[in-house]
Amino acid sequence: MNDKELFTLIEAEASRQLQHLELIASENYVSKDVLKAQGSILTNKYAEGYPGKRYYGGCEFIDQIESLAIDRATKLFGCAFANVQPHSGTEANLAAYNAVLKPGDKILAMSLSSGGHLSHGTNLSLSGKIYQTYFYDVNPQTEILDYDALEKMALEIVPQLLIVGASAYSRLIDYQRCKEIAVKCGAVLLVDMAHVAGLIAAKVIPSCFPYADIVTSTTHKTLRGPRGGLILTNDPLLNAKINKSVFPGIQGGPLMHVIAAKAVCFKEAMSEGFINYQKQVIKNARVLSEKFQELGYRIISGKTENHLFMIDVFAKFNMTGKRAEELLESVGITVNKNSIPHDLNKPNLTSGIRIGTPYLTTLGFKEETMEEIALLIDEVLKGNDASFKAPLLISRVQEIIRNNVLKSE
Ligand SMILES: *Cc1c(COP(=O)(O)O)cnc(C)c1O
Repeated sequence: MNDKELFTLIEAEASRQLQHLELIASENYVSKDVLKAQGSILTNKYAEGYPGKRYYGGCEFIDQIESLAIDRATKLFGCAFANVQPHSGTEANLAAYNAVLKPGDKILAMSLSSGGHLSHGTNLSLSGKIYQTYFYDVNPQTEILDYDALEKMALEIVPQLLIVGASAYSRLIDYQRCKEIAVKCGAVLLVDMAHVAGLIAAKVIPSCFPYADIVTSTTHKTLRGPRGGLILTNDPLLNAKINKSVFPGIQGGPLMHVIAAKAVCFKEAMSEGFINYQKQVIKNARVLSEKFQELGYRIISGKTENHLFMIDVFAKFNMTGKRAEELLESVGITVNKNSIPHDLNKPNLTSGIRIGTPYLTTLGFKEETMEEIALLIDEVLKGNDASFKAPLLISRVQEIIRNNVLKSE
């Protein structure tokens, strides 16, 4: 290593990752094969275009790698076509919009405070500047998607694109109903499964196929692959539009090292072990959320049916999500502040925190530890001195990472 300055920082981050209880719902801990593929010499190769149709020579093996990734993605999700080139979830979305919309067209998407994502046409995103976006909310009482209200809104607005899928929504989505609504108003249905892709791949929650026209995703959340994006469809015409839209529409050369790592991740996701992992992710989230309820916390929408949930810390302690996040960080527990439906606090303060179990489940944590974690978080938020207990759990995290993950390299 010649660049000491930089590699010292990577080591510092590696040790930070060993010293925290990671409860951020969108993060995970990848396998050494994923790391190896992503850190490989494939980064040296330019490969603009698609397998068999490149703008550069020397793509013999690159073509086989991308085709392998595509075949595995379609097999994993049970669909006909995949584009594995988007650099991120946001770019997958932008490419999908660009494939089916003209500037000024209308998008109907879930609001940020109900759990939607910035890239779904919000005004901070390029998508919000190019397209005209309307937002639907969850029902204020149940905090669950209200499909009748959504249908009413869709028929009034008549959007060209209906987006479902969220970053902070703990309930299952009725994709069939969403498709019916899209058909009634003549919209393309885009399902952004970024958060739940791993759960869908393992078939532990219902799939968005065959209902979605286009499916976008990240590969680095519950799917436990490299940081990147993915677009799927069953429609050959849409597929052709999507491919043109990704390249040359919004991207240049593909990140072949990342695509190789995606191929590894899709293969891993077909294994028995991955299915058991996702079952445990859901079990852990349920047990953790139920323990919080037992301790008197309000869980947004009353329960979780996936890998994450939001807690209303403002209702319990008159404390903002931001403050809760800081208090927990101070003892080595990482969560993120999160707006809750119809939040009275600003987005930079929020009333909630979001908690997810994918990362700790990858490290092998089971239900018993979830109960310990809930008790620990409760003590920290109540202002009790938890500085003795947190290091105990964290040292177990460190031990597990050292034994299972790092040593096997
Ligand atoms: C995370 C997420 C994205 C964006 O992914 P990036 O790779 O960070 O751009 C898009 N949509 C949803 C629903 C997400 O949760």
